[in-house]
Amino acid sequence: MDTQMLIGSKFERGTETEEAILNPRTGETILSLPEASPAQIEVAVAAAQMAFVTWSKTTPAQRSSYLLKIADRIEAEAEAFARLEALNCGKPINAVLNDEIPAIVDCYRFFAGAVRSMPGLVAGEYLPGHTSMIRRDSVGIVASIAPWNYPLMMMAWKLAPAIAGGNTVVFKPSEQTPLTALKLARILAEVLPEGVVNVVLGRGESVGNALINHAAVSMISITGDVATGKKVLQAAAKSVKRTHLELGGKAPVIVFDDADIDAVVSGLRAFGYYNAGQDCTAACRIYAGKKVYDKLVADLSSAVSTIRYGQADDTENEIGPLISRRQRDRVASFVERASELKHIEITTGGKPGEGGGFYYQPTVVAGALQEDEIVRREVFGPVVSVTRFSDVDEAVNWANDSDYGLASSVWTKDISRGMATAARLQYGCTWINTHFMLTNEMPHGGLKQSGYGKDMSVYALEDYTAVRHVMIAHG
Ligand code: NAD
Repeated sequence: MDTQMLIGSKFERGTETEEAILNPRTGETILSLPEASPAQIEVAVAAAQMAFVTWSKTTPAQRSSYLLKIADRIEAEAEAFARLEALNCGKPINAVLNDEIPAIVDCYRFFAGAVRSMPGLVAGEYLPGHTSMIRRDSVGIVASIAPWNYPLMMMAWKLAPAIAGGNTVVFKPSEQTPLTALKLARILAEVLPEGVVNVVLGRGESVGNALINHAAVSMISITGDVATGKKVLQAAAKSVKRTHLELGGKAPVIVFDDADIDAVVSGLRAFGYYNAGQDCTAACRIYAGKKVYDKLVADLSSAVSTIRYGQADDTENEIGPLISRRQRDRVASFVERASELKHIEITTGGKPGEGGGFYYQPTVVAGALQEDEIVRREVFGPVVSVTRFSDVDEAVNWANDSDYGLASSVWTKDISRGMATAARLQYGCTWINTHFMLTNEMPHGGLKQSGYGKDMSVYALEDYTAVRHVMIAHG
């Protein structure tokens, strides 16, 4: 197992506080890893600065070929990456191998292609006697900070557009899930020129904080909690750094009375509970039409009660445990507080799983009202609430009545109603008759407190490059 950070071309262990990396299925420690010292962070940033001088001058075709090599190497070691991610996160091996790794490989390949054909305004004489042209240039050194729910995928979403855009990066994985980042660091050191990507380990308040406040860092890219995003903005304000924020979500799902209920139930069983609900787009806040509400609650509860987890044969598992005891206890406390309300019924689940792992039973919270905490706050666990609505205005108003604005979905057989409702939703993404489906060509990002950074797609390439105007006087 790779345990060392990548700083310039050197592999080093951190020298500061050790963090225990746990196996969420058992609660046991896999290994402990020390975090980077302030001096090591300095060297990593200096290496990125040094590398930027030549990397930012490479052609799109050159950067593209590096990205393609990274993709090929991950693909060649797909099983090993998947096993490591499954170990560190508790994810079912098949989910990582069949869903995540192909999307990660495709992310590097997408940006390898996209950077060679970036669009823009045409050059021309917008003032008589002057020719204007638009350039898109690199921003500089990017401090990239990732969460624990999809460690290798978040790394791809951050690294691929950043280095495609000619930037260099100091990357910090979550202190809870660094293992696949350390494995990828070995590949990056072989494939990329020295210093283009550096990987440092550590907690947010120490290493993360040092990175976001570093004078040489031009841009901060973070996926994490809203509270963390606000700290990033405060740090960025001091020297007016660019920020790319991907924060939480609380996705509303509007189910109209005419929806195909079997499709809704099988969609929610999959998209509400995937990755044990530790997903910022999880279909977790259901608004059901009054005619369909009872059937939906009954069918969903019985479908959710069949979700397989905690089996000794991991290929049988559909979801894993939560990432940590703390996260499991947080999820449990949300459900406990909800269950104390008279109007709420926990129709399936509602308890921690048995054994030493951080499991929580897939749970349906029925009868929830708009003002309930379970409807308003991000639980980030295998818990879905269902609320009855009476008309479309009520459903849309409740769906939009949220601090978050990342993802949403609408379920109906009437495509006009689906389109009209989608147009009224204040979310970065609205799916109609599906949920959760992502593709590297399309942007992923939010509105409101979900942040404004776009991952994937040409919009990410825009975020990681700066628009510049060059004008020539004809003389
Ligand atoms: P978190 O905010 O606690 O941590 C995210 C990262 O930020 C970690 O690497 C952490 O070490 C670092 N960090 C924490 N405090 C910091 C500080 N003061 N300075 C610099 N870095 C700091 O979030 P998490 O618990 O790892 O992840 C779960 C959250 O991420 C959820 O709220 C979820 O919705 C959100 N998320 C959002 C998206 C999205 O695309 N919008 C995707 C995945 C996760």
